[in-house]
Amino acid sequence: MAATRHDHRRCVSNALGAAALLCRRRGARLTSLRAGVLEIVWRGHAPIGAYAILERLRREHGQAAPPTVYRALDFLLAQGLIHRIESMNAFIGCPRPAEAHGGQFLLCTLCGTAAELADKRVEAALTTATARAGFRVEARVVELRGLCRVCTAAEARHAG
Ligand SMILES: [Zn+2]
Ligand SMILES: [Zn+2]
Ligand SMILES: [Zn+2]
Repeated sequence: MAATRHDHRRCVSNALGAAALLCRRRGARLTSLRAGVLEIVWRGHAPIGAYAILERLRREHGQAAPPTVYRALDFLLAQGLIHRIESMNAFIGCPRPAEAHGGQFLLCTLCGTAAELADKRVEAALTTATARAGFRVEARVVELRGLCRVCTAAEARHAG
């Protein structure tokens, strides 16, 4: 769960609203299953694995076959509504799905949250550097591991 105190229901409703709007504009079909998977991914700010998503889907919506869930995840990834955190083999909702971007993540090793940075300068620097190296990028997700602001503060209180 998110360590920072905030009204998470708003994160969820914003994300689901933006997804519906974006899909309508693109002519992509956000079926109830796809929306259900997106809602499960958005339950927290910690990345969630496909298996955990499947478990929740089964518990709440009855039957759900693994291929269905994988297809829904592929759809959400293709629409930029979620990102895959490769190192954890897990998924996280994207707060800015309308803008094309790779994603830069601050992964907290203590509370498990993943905060997304969307620094255009980092994106631009990567584009330039990879082009210079003659490298064709297929996945561009930057993952940084460490302690989030809240956990850092908690640790400082502990030490002091
Ligand atoms: Zn939230
Ligand atoms: Zn994003
Ligand atoms: Zn943390």
